[in-house]
Amino acid sequence: MDLGVLLQSLVPSSQSVAVLVFYFVYLAIAGKILPGRVIRGVPLSDGSQLRYKCNGLFALILLIALLGISAKMRIFSPLVVADRGLELLSATFIFSVLVTVMLYVTGRNSSYKSSSLKPHITGNFIDDWWFGIQLNPQFMGIDLKFYFVRAGMMAWLLINLSILAKSIQDDSLSRSMILYQIFCALYVLDYFVHEEYMTSTWDIIAERLGFMLVFGDLVWIPFTFSIQGWWLLHNKVELTFAAMVANCLVFLIGYMVFRGANKQKHIFKKNPKAPIWGKPPVIIGGKLLASGYWGIARHCNYLGDLMLALSFSLPCGISSLIPYFYPIYLLILLIWRERRDETRCAQKYKDIWAEYRRLVPWRILPYVY
Ligand code: NDP
Repeated sequence: MDLGVLLQSLVPSSQSVAVLVFYFVYLAIAGKILPGRVIRGVPLSDGSQLRYKCNGLFALILLIALLGISAKMRIFSPLVVADRGLELLSATFIFSVLVTVMLYVTGRNSSYKSSSLKPHITGNFIDDWWFGIQLNPQFMGIDLKFYFVRAGMMAWLLINLSILAKSIQDDSLSRSMILYQIFCALYVLDYFVHEEYMTSTWDIIAERLGFMLVFGDLVWIPFTFSIQGWWLLHNKVELTFAAMVANCLVFLIGYMVFRGANKQKHIFKKNPKAPIWGKPPVIIGGKLLASGYWGIARHCNYLGDLMLALSFSLPCGISSLIPYFYPIYLLILLIWRERRDETRCAQKYKDIWAEYRRLVPWRILPYVY
């Protein structure tokens, strides 16, 4: 693409800004008024617990229904995202920068009432802006971290659906596109079915809300996770039946490990006596689970996620590295995160963690890493 045309397509039009405003307002209202289970978060250092309303699945299904109806009535074109992808990308990027500046300013001037709002100011602007100042900032009763990750995951599915509509319109729908769409849709729907599990993840319990997380949730997740879909719109791939079966197996095994490991930890945190794979759990120091997936590797959930990421790219064949951007990025991110989590857990659990390391020596992939 010509550089001038590229720059032109990055300038947000009023239509793309309107799409974004509608989306964020819808999510804020739907999150507030739609019914859903209210989950108590992990206890904070002052003993308080945040509450999260897990109605993301309801909000997503309602939004897709509303968009479908407005597309039928020709109020809204399902192709708007596929046609204006770059504009929406730059508009979302600008929005992320603005949000982070506001978080920085309000974080610096905050008078905190709970440890989730206690400012963590290093005095280094880049550090405070990038990693954020507060752990769980709220806006009009909305937990921003929970809201942003929800917005990013839903946007990923909405972008994919628009890409699917475009490929149907262009008469270029392929088996690869169908596989990619099914895998991603199942992953996103599964996320929302198990949305409460998000409340005990590293992002929610340990990461402060700064540019890194806002950009990661709002820009990175929807726009880079959908690269395979954009790529398949412009490239034709003929998959053999055997390749499709192998691809499905990678997805299914990845899903089993990813969901199984996250579920086991979640259940263990709620009820440490609950059986794991039908047997009493192996517990270290009363705090750490060392059986089931957590007895195979210390972060088996990352292994499952990596297999899933690979399964989203395999439908694109092996002719280009571009569709493999997501699994490669995730591999780097999860190795980095595993190391940071390891440091955090070693400090928090001390001897118990050392014992866990001795019992379960593998970090992510047994006998390899
Ligand atoms: P984990 O869900 O693995 O959470 C780590 C925390 O779990 C630790 O800090 C510790 O916290 C607790 N813990 C660790 N080991 C044990 C154990 N043996 N027994 C009991 N508790 C334990 O990490 P993440 O939050 O990073 O990841 C959650 C999911 O999100 C993963 O599946 C990951 O793959 C996915 N993810 C996906 C990304 C993407 O871009 N697609 C990005 C990041 C994550 P505590 O203090 O509570 O004990």
